[in-house]
Amino acid sequence: MTVFSAKEFDNHEDILFFHDEKSGLKAIIAVHDTTLGPALGGTRMWDYQNEEEAIADVLRLSRGMTYKSSLAGVNLGGGKSVIIGNARTDKTPELFEAFGRAVDQLGGTYIAAEDVGTTVPDLEIARRSTRHIAGISEGNSGDPSPATAWGVFHGLRAAVQFELNKTNLTGVKVAVQGLGNVGYGLCELLKDAGAELIVADPHEAAVDKAVRNLGATAVGIEAIYDQDADVFAPCALGAILNDDSIARLKVRVVAGSANNQLAEDRHAKMLMEKGILYAPDYAINAGGIIIISHEGPNFKRDKAMQQVAGIHDTCLSIFERAKRENVTTAEIADKIALERLENVRNEKARLALAS
Ligand code: NAD
Repeated sequence: MTVFSAKEFDNHEDILFFHDEKSGLKAIIAVHDTTLGPALGGTRMWDYQNEEEAIADVLRLSRGMTYKSSLAGVNLGGGKSVIIGNARTDKTPELFEAFGRAVDQLGGTYIAAEDVGTTVPDLEIARRSTRHIAGISEGNSGDPSPATAWGVFHGLRAAVQFELNKTNLTGVKVAVQGLGNVGYGLCELLKDAGAELIVADPHEAAVDKAVRNLGATAVGIEAIYDQDADVFAPCALGAILNDDSIARLKVRVVAGSANNQLAEDRHAKMLMEKGILYAPDYAINAGGIIIISHEGPNFKRDKAMQQVAGIHDTCLSIFERAKRENVTTAEIADKIALERLENVRNEKARLALAS
């Protein structure tokens, strides 16, 4: 097993492995970069096939958080944690208390939040052992999903404006993949804005609700890629932009909340060559991290949501620069994120020299 030479390592500042025999906790916390502030990222609980897979996942995800926060303009670094285990069968209060103790050992360098496989109540249990938990209901911003949906809505608007030259969403057809916390919230916002919805989710009750309440057209989970729509909004799984799906897509825009949408980096180029505008996942889905960055004694939801709406302008500037430089939108998002990091690093070095 390699760590330092792993492709995903990318100069991580810290990687910590925790084991608590009594509760059975096996967790890894990765801190990628704290240039902009404490490393914030969700806690994923997943039944990894092996430890290599868990290490690769936590490294990839924590690096992604550095880029997401940098691009979103928030003063948070990039980190992530994983708990190795089955989220359906292995959860106990003792496990999350032990996880809280693990987070506490970092003294605030890493701040945990919910992610795939963990819930706000799980993190509330972890909170008994550490104060370094964000996005839970106790006196702070709560579930980040509504903010994420709000950000995706504004990023999608920007993409439609740029690609379809439309300043509103009336009659714009959006194919939404996944009607979970973010996907359903996005559908409600789209419906209110006059868009037409096509939806797919294996969870029948969610589909029925969207059909009944939002007038959506339901299609099968495979058929969602083949729709004659303007926009494809992936709000479920990662790696869904691949050779097969891109060949099938008939849309002009891809704009959705899912993390790590591109199966491989080259798929950004494939989308560009097909004339499909791709709103980079970590640019458009940053609403959650933005609202969390507002947490504190003076938390004001309205102010935070106003900043989330700024994802419209962030996306628009990515689209414009990508067009100017004739490169993919994914490349430009990375460039902007790295430019900010570099500027802050240089400024810190300058101040250190001056003092
Ligand atoms: P969720 O678990 O609430 O919803 C996911 C939905 O996708 C579920 O309804 C599930 O049934 C559905 N689904 C699963 N497989 C599917 C398939 N093959 N086709 C269609 N639907 C399928 O998750 P969420 O919180 O809504 O997050 C959605 C995505 O957005 C995830 O990729 C997540 O990582 C990402 N994201 C979420 C947030 C947030 O604040 N919740 C922030 C950033 C990114």
